[in-house]
Amino acid sequence: MDPRVEQFMAQIISKNPGENEFHQAVQEVAESLIPYVEEHPKYEHAKILERIAEPERVVLFRVPWLDDKGEIQINKGFRIEMNSAIGPYKGGLRFHPTVNLGVLKFLAFEQVFKNSLTTLPMGGGKGGSDFDPKGKSDNEVMRFCQSFMTELYRHIGPNTDVPAGDIGVGGREIGFLFGQYKRLRNEFTGVLTGKGIEWGGSLIRPEATGYGTVYFAAEMLKTRGMDFKGKTVTVSGSGNVAQYATEKVTELGGKVVTLSDSGGFIHDPGGIDPGKLAYIIELKNIKRGRIREYAEKYRADFHEGSRPWGIKCDIALPCATENEINEEEAKTLVANGCICVSEGANMPSTPGAIEIYMDKKILYGPGKAANAGGVAVSGLEMSQNSLRMPWTREEVDKRLQETMINIHKTTVKYGKESDDFINYVNGANIGGFVKVADAMLAQGVV
Ligand code: NDP
Repeated sequence: MDPRVEQFMAQIISKNPGENEFHQAVQEVAESLIPYVEEHPKYEHAKILERIAEPERVVLFRVPWLDDKGEIQINKGFRIEMNSAIGPYKGGLRFHPTVNLGVLKFLAFEQVFKNSLTTLPMGGGKGGSDFDPKGKSDNEVMRFCQSFMTELYRHIGPNTDVPAGDIGVGGREIGFLFGQYKRLRNEFTGVLTGKGIEWGGSLIRPEATGYGTVYFAAEMLKTRGMDFKGKTVTVSGSGNVAQYATEKVTELGGKVVTLSDSGGFIHDPGGIDPGKLAYIIELKNIKRGRIREYAEKYRADFHEGSRPWGIKCDIALPCATENEINEEEAKTLVANGCICVSEGANMPSTPGAIEIYMDKKILYGPGKAANAGGVAVSGLEMSQNSLRMPWTREEVDKRLQETMINIHKTTVKYGKESDDFINYVNGANIGGFVKVADAMLAQGVV
């Protein structure tokens, strides 16, 4: 490791003990930024890197709620307000048993760079709870969301902090959270994004992250004269991002052959066509079932407890969770002919996996850039709420596509190396950093 990075990371680790995912996210950024900052001493003198790695505010709270048996349950609630240099804090809420401070700080940190890349005026934040919505009744989820918002409402607002969804937080949860916020504040505002279309939501928001990841991959492929037509694509996850990534790949002429959940993955060599995808959307979003049921219905293979990266593909779209592709799996992907990895999930590739992509010079779009479409359309939802005027599906999709093309341009600008290889990791980290850093410089020591 570069000794300058090592020294910087020693400080981060001693100040934030045990927060492994946060250390991993900061280290990846530090590796890109420390050489850049040394060439631009104004950032070094103002200690921008040290400041950007410290949240502006962390809120931790108790979330008590009553389950259907009348028993009291207690969960932890969190909101990390990471950086507001370029706009109100913005980032999702995650409800999952693995949620802890380190996971949310990594997500909030990444969000700062991602939001900056969209060019919209949004700072970075993230929040959530160790509550697990799986296996809970709708009433239990509602009581939990109401209790969560009863504390969170005092920290957020349309000009302060605007949360959205993430793992375990979809349309149902956003509805319950919004209802409680409105009741406590007595105002109808755009305080959450991902709202239903009848009550302030934006068209294309549910599709945005998955579509955006595919649009970004299409831009990367273009740099090598390729596209999605006829390509075999492996996708992980089967939630919001995976569903709409699958839809867009199919629309662009590719064939998605895998999807997964925490129980394992399905492999359907014939491809997951629109009819089969409609079944998955209903299975996951309404029936709240397991992906193995797909294998039973369509006679596909189900691989219990494993991930789809051993299946031969041209393009891989990890859309489930962090650290879901390790070094060995990356080696297998590349050995099987994979030419492009575009990350719908946040930090799905381990540092060892990223080294393999870089070494083999495949097209690798890190989540900060590749999955920024979701927050970009959340930004558009905020604009529509302020204007009190909804835009059409075509208008929002056009803006989403333009945003992903612009993010790609920025990453190429900052990531192109002397041999013309595009290092999208450096591109996203430096491209996201400059605007936030300049705003921090202009705003003084705050
Ligand atoms: P969902 O909750 O809709 O779906 C998550 C999917 O990933 C489910 O299939 C889930 O399976 C699987 N999964 C989650 N955790 C694990 C795990 N530890 N091991 C194996 N599988 C797991 O979430 P989203 O689709 O919204 O989010 C997916 C990823 O995309 C996350 O990394 C998120 O941070 C990122 N992202 C999401 C955005 C959005 O707009 N929603 C925006 C940008 C990034 P199971 O149901 O079995 O848990």
